[in-house]
Amino acid sequence: MKVYKFGGASVKDAEGITNLASIVSAEKENLVIVVSAFGKTTNALEKVLKAWLDGDERYKELLDDIYSYHLSVAEELFSSGNSEKSRIDTSFAKLEEYLVSSKRKNYDFEYDQVVSYGEIWSTIIVAGYLKERGMNAEWIDIRGNLITDDRFRDANILWNESMARIRSTFNFKETGIFVTQGFIGSTIAGQTTTLGREGSDYTAALLANMLDAEAAVVWKDVPGLLNADPKWLSDARKLEEISYREAVEITFSGAKIIHPKTIKPLQNKNIPLIVKSFLAPEEKGTVIKAETSIKHGLPVFIRKENQIMISILPKDFSFAMGENLSRIFYSFVNHGIKVNLVQASAVSINVCIDDERLRVASLIEDLKTEFDAVYNENVEMLSIRHYTPEAIERITSGREILLEQKTRNSVRYIVRGIASSLRDSQ
Ligand code: ASP
Ligand code: MG
Repeated sequence: MKVYKFGGASVKDAEGITNLASIVSAEKENLVIVVSAFGKTTNALEKVLKAWLDGDERYKELLDDIYSYHLSVAEELFSSGNSEKSRIDTSFAKLEEYLVSSKRKNYDFEYDQVVSYGEIWSTIIVAGYLKERGMNAEWIDIRGNLITDDRFRDANILWNESMARIRSTFNFKETGIFVTQGFIGSTIAGQTTTLGREGSDYTAALLANMLDAEAAVVWKDVPGLLNADPKWLSDARKLEEISYREAVEITFSGAKIIHPKTIKPLQNKNIPLIVKSFLAPEEKGTVIKAETSIKHGLPVFIRKENQIMISILPKDFSFAMGENLSRIFYSFVNHGIKVNLVQASAVSINVCIDDERLRVASLIEDLKTEFDAVYNENVEMLSIRHYTPEAIERITSGREILLEQKTRNSVRYIVRGIASSLRDSQ
């Protein structure tokens, strides 16, 4: 069997879902199809959540827009008697009821209860459409199967519990195609959790691992993994084949094409990951696997925007390394902050992290008795794998470099964000 993953861009409208159906019908193997929320629905649900948490009644209008969007897709796809439309209605009503009646709890918890609906709606429609086209498809609620801890908004998989359930559910005894949600899971107690933004790729990798898939295929709107984001460097080229190791390095550095957590479950079982275009399914895409025969020799450019660089200094001028190091990083983990780069000197540690204001504020509060923290907002992390002098010149020229870190294979720069340097010079 294979696992196919379709992201929001591939299922943003009825045409996308029709295209999905033709891709799926061309596959001979049994399939598990992991689907994200339609288009930008996750962002839209984040806005509903924010308004609701702020006590702003306009959340209802925002939710109505999301409803109309899903209904119009369903109407285009389904014949009039199809019962999936009423399933969508029931599910929206359930969310509305929750928002009207529940007492607001903490942000991360509510996030998962509300935002997870995007994947429920998208999969109901996709599974319903495949059935309507005569395929042997079944909708599965992944929340009864993918079990996590209760770290809401960034839940960790409970491996043994999940594996047993997943193997018994996705058994292909009577079904050829299972359609299920990416990004979401559930605690043992049945509370919905999410795995972090863009987490559907990770779900696909987990299912591929647990079901011993032959391959996992991530369908995108680009031809595969490129050596740069073409919106940034227009001459970006496709990488035919890369190793798991390379893939982890470049996705961790910020290549947005697949979620960095996706690689490990696949590497552990030696399952190839294929990234290819849903717009040109006959083309090969990029294959990610253990050993690669092709040496692409291209520098790979990665840009991670919206970063903050924090410099942390022990107040008593003690060395930054040693005990202080573990105290500082414990605090990062505790506040759910992921570190993208670390560089230490004798009495300071520089850390580059995603700009998550609330988390950063509580981290700094936590450290402030023992450490001074200075930070630069609006910076970018630029990385190059397999760098050359020309490649470095190309992306750093004219940029203000705040930090540089070089190893044999990679170089990283923290530079001031373009928006902020423009502002500064005005
Ligand atoms: N819908 C979720 C998001 O947009 C998960 C995903 O797309 O992978 O973050
Ligand atoms: Mg999405």
